[in-house]
Amino acid sequence: MYSNKKNYERICDELKKANAQLVAVSKTKPVQAIRELYDLGHRDFGENYVQELTEKQPQLPQDIRWHFIGHLQTNKVKYIAPFVHLIHGIDSLKLLKEVNKQAIKNNRTISVLLQVHIAQEETKFGLDESELDQLFYTGATDELRQLSNIQIEGLMGMASFSDNEDLVRSEFKKLKRLFDKYASLPLPNTKFTTLSMGMSGDYRLALAEGSNLVRIGSLLFGNR
Ligand SMILES: *Cc1c(COP(=O)(O)O)cnc(C)c1O
Repeated sequence: MYSNKKNYERICDELKKANAQLVAVSKTKPVQAIRELYDLGHRDFGENYVQELTEKQPQLPQDIRWHFIGHLQTNKVKYIAPFVHLIHGIDSLKLLKEVNKQAIKNNRTISVLLQVHIAQEETKFGLDESELDQLFYTGATDELRQLSNIQIEGLMGMASFSDNEDLVRSEFKKLKRLFDKYASLPLPNTKFTTLSMGMSGDYRLALAEGSNLVRIGSLLFGNR
């Protein structure tokens, strides 16, 4: 067994009550692990590394919805553009433009989430509020309109890796506040529906603060 079916079923139950989706994070795990959850009916899987994803994807059923949740380098977008379902980690306009370019080449629309930096750790990637304001308010409409093959579906964030629940909760609250702030703006190629926050260690807090998509790895597939 490569996966924990009990945890999977319990988490699915919790998410159903919260009206949230599950992305099963399978990075570093073998295709057999993905297969096990697939056979239970699961279709949404998340990967962090382009090379690992492009190696796994052809070996698995084509109706899997692949979420790219890692840090994406501009020069690697082309490898995942033909099939990726949702890119969670967009952290610059430059990257957004490259995704649009590759989406056009592949004659499709690619859905994305903007990653927001909410944690205290300097190392975590993402945009801050002033950068989001710049994208969404400051003459952004024209710029966004040109991204014809992009659909911005919402925001993603990672809280601090900490036992301090108050800290983690306040970071999720902040992300939810930003989500609500931009969700109401009428912007081209943008429709806020997805707030991706919460992992194995903090998904319950994230759900309580309004997450509707959690990314869970170790609870499903064991520690990495
Ligand atoms: C690895 C990873 C996860 C899953 O982490 P777990 O703690 O194993 O649930 C979720 N989101 C991102 C961005 C990750 O890199």
